[in-house]
Amino acid sequence: MTIYDLTLAELRARLDNRELSAVEVTNAYLSRIAATNPAVNAFITVCSDTAIAEAQAADQALAIGEVTPLTGLPIAVKDIFNTAGLRTTCASRILGNYISPYDATVISRIKEQKAVIIGKLNMDEFAMGSSNENSAFGAVHNPWNLKHVPGGSSGGSAACVAARQAVAALGTDTGGSIRQPASHCSVVGMKPTYGRVSRYGVVAYASSLDQVGPITRNVRDCALLLQAIAGHDPADSTSVNTPVPDYQAGLTGDLKGLRIGLPQEYFIEGLDNDVRKAVEQATATYRDLGAEVVEVSLPHTAYAVACYYLIATAEASSNLARYDGVRYGLRADNAENLIDMYMQSRAAGFGAEVKRRIMLGTYALSSGYYDAYYLKAQKVRTLIRQDFLDAFEKVDTLLTPVAPTPAFALGEKLNDPLQMYLSDIYTIPANLAGTCAISLPCGFSANNLPIGLQLIGKPFDEMTLLRTAHAFEQATEWHKRKPDF
Ligand code: GLN
Repeated sequence: MTIYDLTLAELRARLDNRELSAVEVTNAYLSRIAATNPAVNAFITVCSDTAIAEAQAADQALAIGEVTPLTGLPIAVKDIFNTAGLRTTCASRILGNYISPYDATVISRIKEQKAVIIGKLNMDEFAMGSSNENSAFGAVHNPWNLKHVPGGSSGGSAACVAARQAVAALGTDTGGSIRQPASHCSVVGMKPTYGRVSRYGVVAYASSLDQVGPITRNVRDCALLLQAIAGHDPADSTSVNTPVPDYQAGLTGDLKGLRIGLPQEYFIEGLDNDVRKAVEQATATYRDLGAEVVEVSLPHTAYAVACYYLIATAEASSNLARYDGVRYGLRADNAENLIDMYMQSRAAGFGAEVKRRIMLGTYALSSGYYDAYYLKAQKVRTLIRQDFLDAFEKVDTLLTPVAPTPAFALGEKLNDPLQMYLSDIYTIPANLAGTCAISLPCGFSANNLPIGLQLIGKPFDEMTLLRTAHAFEQATEWHKRKPDF
């Protein structure tokens, strides 16, 4: 087996018994990136020099027995995380040359464990999109079929893990941006509960929805990486001070007594037949594993997409006001006065989708419209959250599709924003409710594109989610398939 086919847990064992060194592992991945990235375009920056230096430091730590779960393991991160001394672009022209002055908390945490940061990953500009086509650094291609999108906005993160360009990746999920690309690329992706992982140093899109999470090749690796990044951070007042359990210890394979709910509102017209079949098959597998499956209702589901696109754009219009050409990044150089400089810098620096979102959000927040749009959306959000809390009185986890269709073709939805927005129909509600959810491989379409299964869990119960996902993975082979290209 080649080095880059090993999982996090498998590499850990080989580093610990000195069968492999961190430098060897890092070099194997750097060669793999050089060979495959021209086709996939998952990386905006490959950190060759710093990665080798970090791997050497990891080998020194290993030599004196200073071992943490991530020591020496090459991890790639979405280009939305501040990484001291490295470029952080958020896939935008406006931050094209921006060098972070400090590390995001999640970056500090994996650096403390002496993980190797191998590169910064492509994404939709400012995490706005579902296809990774909204990037100033070009689209990412799905490793399973290079003519298809990898999903978004963490498209580079999912494609990189599927293409074996890093053993694991970190992404962010505001409305599905970890789960939907994980589903389209046949990898595991988790959005933890809002507040579980620090957002300090993560470029803000919609602050009440954004959450950081792992993208990995299997559920055990997801548990390992979540363990490293989860927990309270005094630098992020929305991170919650609640104990972080030992996630690996929860992977017992035991589903006895587990109650799974199928929300009827998720199995509707527009759901692709192959996706429906794969999810039904997964449901049958859970029954065989001893779980009890019942129907539940989340009655306000139909309002989720509209509600999200008001709240997310309103928060984005406010968050993105800071890119004025003065404090960060690109500045227009032949402006006539200050206002002109703001306008020219923003006109040149932002892409079309980001401008559309700023306009939508500014409109929703304008006086005279605020009550009708933004305030109404906040009220609807409360109802959606209550739907989930009610359902969790009856069941431990919800089982749904991740996306209504497998990965669509590059260009297919680019000129139809509404169709693009609808691809998040099953992922957005968990963000609005603030709860945790995971995507894992559960099949392939007739034309060999991956299909993912979503499990949605109770707030701060990532443990049950991981246990439930792991049991399915043990009973199936989907996660063992890999793209060959
Ligand atoms: N596709 C959704 C959007 O464009 C979600 C993006 C995300 O989760 N960052 O807003």
